[in-house]
Amino acid sequence: MSRPILVVEHILSANDRLAEANRARLDAARVFAVNLMASPGAGKTSLILQTIGALKGRWRIAVVEGDLASTIDADRIAAEGVPSVQIATGGECHLDAAMIQSGLDRLPLDEVDLLIVENVGNLVCPAEFRLGVHRNVLIASVPEGDDKPYKYPPMYRGVDAVILNKIDVLSAFDFNMEYFRRGIEALNPGAAFFPLSCKTGEGVDRWLDWLEKEMRTYREG
Ligand code: MG
Ligand code: ZN
Repeated sequence: MSRPILVVEHILSANDRLAEANRARLDAARVFAVNLMASPGAGKTSLILQTIGALKGRWRIAVVEGDLASTIDADRIAAEGVPSVQIATGGECHLDAAMIQSGLDRLPLDEVDLLIVENVGNLVCPAEFRLGVHRNVLIASVPEGDDKPYKYPPMYRGVDAVILNKIDVLSAFDFNMEYFRRGIEALNPGAAFFPLSCKTGEGVDRWLDWLEKEMRTYREG
């Protein structure tokens, strides 16, 4: 069984090299890039729309939209008037560094401060493919349940921040916040945590404050 493993390692290291090239390109243009990962329906696009609405007066924002097939989310982003590129992954269940490279080719990087990457909705393999971004963020949501950190540890282990979306429906679900947080802490001590609702706007400010603080730190560095 060693052969298939070697092939996978080879593919991953090729991806890592491309990710490093993406990072160099982003840094040369001083573009701060954030990768948003989540299961389908957790609210990636909603969070992006909230973030654009709040920050577009202060920062120049662009979006790379990964989707299996449709342009529904890309169209919603484009309606906000920010540059966006759609990466139709053609059935691939994650974005990889080569796809990001092709997205960067189609964006005016010198006119962008913040690049938001919406990964394909999937809680398994996006964690395995480095893209070259500066921060990785996982969006969970209340209806998915409080046991997700325990069931999908690689996704929770590698991120800088965890967002818990849809807290407006907490009372309708048997969701134990303490259990959820303990699961994150065990895998990823000190990860930023933002419970919020894209629907009501509750808690979104704390996410925006963190994002802007990370951006400023990056730009001063
Ligand atoms: Mg979406
Ligand atoms: Zn995949």
